[in-house]
Amino acid sequence: MIYDLIIIGGGPAGVAAAVYAARKRLKTLFVTAEWGGQSVVSEQIYNWIGTVSLSGNELAENFKKHLKANEGESLEIKSGEKVTSLEKVDAGFKIKTDGNKEFEGKTVLVATGSGRKKIPAKNADKFENKGLTYCASCDGPLFADMDVAVIGGGNAAFESAAQLLAYCKSVTLFNRSDTFKADAITVEKVLKNPKMAAVKNVDVIEVKGEQFVEGLVYRDRDTDEEKELKVAGIFVEIGQIPNTDFVKNILPLDEIGRIKIDPWTQKTEVPGIWAAGDATTVLYHQNNIAAGDAVRALEDIYLDINTK
Ligand SMILES: Cc1cc2nc3c(=O)[nH]c(=O)nc-3n(C[C@H](O)[C@H](O)[C@H](O)COP(=O)(O)OP(=O)(O)OC[C@H]3O[C@@H](n4cnc5c(N)ncnc54)[C@H](O)[C@@H]3O)c2cc1C
Repeated sequence: MIYDLIIIGGGPAGVAAAVYAARKRLKTLFVTAEWGGQSVVSEQIYNWIGTVSLSGNELAENFKKHLKANEGESLEIKSGEKVTSLEKVDAGFKIKTDGNKEFEGKTVLVATGSGRKKIPAKNADKFENKGLTYCASCDGPLFADMDVAVIGGGNAAFESAAQLLAYCKSVTLFNRSDTFKADAITVEKVLKNPKMAAVKNVDVIEVKGEQFVEGLVYRDRDTDEEKELKVAGIFVEIGQIPNTDFVKNILPLDEIGRIKIDPWTQKTEVPGIWAAGDATTVLYHQNNIAAGDAVRALEDIYLDINTK
């Protein structure tokens, strides 16, 4: 069995494309490790067009419901499967999954989004989920009335700090450079809170503790002076890494691993493979953008298949 199209990824990009593919009766296989994508951890999302507000879990549930409603002769759904490789074969392309399954398609849409960048500090991996976390909205309430740190200086870091200020005793933000990448208004608002402090121009170099996080060590980037701060929780918000490892042997990626695309069509540099959403070189990362980009890809794939 050779599908017309294999869509990889169950975030807004993959799901939007799959709904369109099913309605256009393309013989489609949709494969995802999980439903919903990155904002599944959000307490509330206020900008998913057409819905005043909903939680990340509700968004994921809606994606699943919408796609299941289109499941049938033209759309097959495999969830809980991670794609581990993508290669060229005579019929088009072959994917392999971590469940040892193989599927072939004439065309492929990669919509695997991105994950969190890890901090390169000593013991950071040892304390992951033992006080060191990558999600303030998921784990923040566990640190009520405690001193915590946020690492990063972009909007995600400041938004995490804002959430934590609602229940933590103090929040100290550590930023690598002298300036913050976050919007000026957000920075100003967050730093005004008396429970908030920010340390600039430093690298966090070590996480301290026995069973759980008890503190961190940071180094001034100019003077090399090292200091320690006692905290019970560390929230890391230093950026994203595209989930593109499994395509690196077939698709040209940029220096940070994003799939290069033509923004008019979402075509990658390999004929027959399209990509959309946060896994690509697109500049802005939003649910609506990912979904829109994927719909653009799908229109182009449909045209491509039907004009060959
Ligand atoms: C904490 C947080 C809050 C956010 N809040 C908002 C918000 O309020 N509004 C907004 O518009 N945007 C928000 N964003 C940004 C938004 O979530 C992303 O821009 C969007 O999710 C990107 O969608 P995507 O489909 O490209 O990828 P993702 O959402 O990353 O989805 C990728 C999907 O691919 C699957 N996958 C990954 N690798 C594989 C593989 N090898 N095989 C199979 N499946 C795989 C994953 O399981 C996932 O389902 C937020 C992001 C974060 C991190």
